[in-house]
Amino acid sequence: MKYVTQSPKQTQILAGFLFAKILKKSHKNALVIALEGELGAGKTTFVQGLAKFLEIKEKIKSPTFNLIKYYSITDYGLRIKKSEKIRNSQFAIRKLYHIDCYRLRDHKDLLVLGIKDILGNSDNIILIEWADRVKKILPKKHIKIHIDHIDKNTRKIEVKI
Ligand code: ADP
Ligand code: MG
Repeated sequence: MKYVTQSPKQTQILAGFLFAKILKKSHKNALVIALEGELGAGKTTFVQGLAKFLEIKEKIKSPTFNLIKYYSITDYGLRIKKSEKIRNSQFAIRKLYHIDCYRLRDHKDLLVLGIKDILGNSDNIILIEWADRVKKILPKKHIKIHIDHIDKNTRKIEVKI
């Protein structure tokens, strides 16, 4: 699927829309969203959009110093969602993980931080910026989002589920 957005706000709204679309009824491991695209493409903006959708109040910034950051998702944040799909699913996502691999040497840096446990827990949704640098630890089943900078406010967003 391909989308074009004309503002950061539109990219944020798209993130929530896609989330509602991709949510599976049940999943054994964490849901993983791999974000690709150059600096300034809009990867962090996309994560902020999903965080807003899930009613996360904290401000999401790129985790420059901490490689991995997580945010708790409250019951309230989920209950008020209007989407039928979310209301009717055994929705169990409790934490949003935001990982930025820009400064990473390789996937081993994530292994020492316990990425295996994080990936193995179905309570988690994990968004990974520069995910192409840690391909080795990505589960086979993950969602790929590639963002291309077209001009100042236009982005092409390709989604592979
Ligand atoms: P990345 O994390 O990929 O490096 P950021 O999300 O931090 O990128 O930055 C994207 C920048 O591009 C922000 O300054 C944002 O305001 C701007 N921008 C302009 N148009 C868009 C758009 N359509 N979608 C996303 N970001 C956009
Ligand atoms: Mg970023």
